[in-house]
Amino acid sequence: MLCYECAIQGVRREAVGMCHHCSAGLCTEHARVESSPLKAERRNKTFGSVRWEVELAKPARQMLCAVCQSALHQEDADSALGRAVNERASLRPETRLERSAA
Ligand SMILES: [Zn+2]
Ligand SMILES: [Zn+2]
Repeated sequence: MLCYECAIQGVRREAVGMCHHCSAGLCTEHARVESSPLKAERRNKTFGSVRWEVELAKPARQMLCAVCQSALHQEDADSALGRAVNERASLRPETRLERSAA
C-alpha cells in the first residue's frame, strides 16, 4: 500500500499504516500517532442498573492522517465562541457578562 498524502503530491512512498478514521495509507512522515484513552463500564454490585464509565490507566495507540486529526480535535463553533468571550471577560475584570433586563 502507498501513502495517500504522498500519492496526491505525485510521490510513491510505502505506507506504514492506515488512518484509523478514513483508512488512508500513511507513511512515517504523514502518520500522526496519538494515544487513545480507553473507557470501561463499571456496574454497582448491589444496584446493577447503576453504571458509570471509567478511563483505564493504559491508553491505546491511534494512527491518524493530519486531516482527520484536526477534524476530530476541533471545537464546535459555539464552544469556541464561548471560550473566546470568557477569555476576553477574564482579561478585563470590569467586563461582566450579565443579562440586561430590557
Ligand atoms: Zn506520505
Ligand atoms: Zn484520515
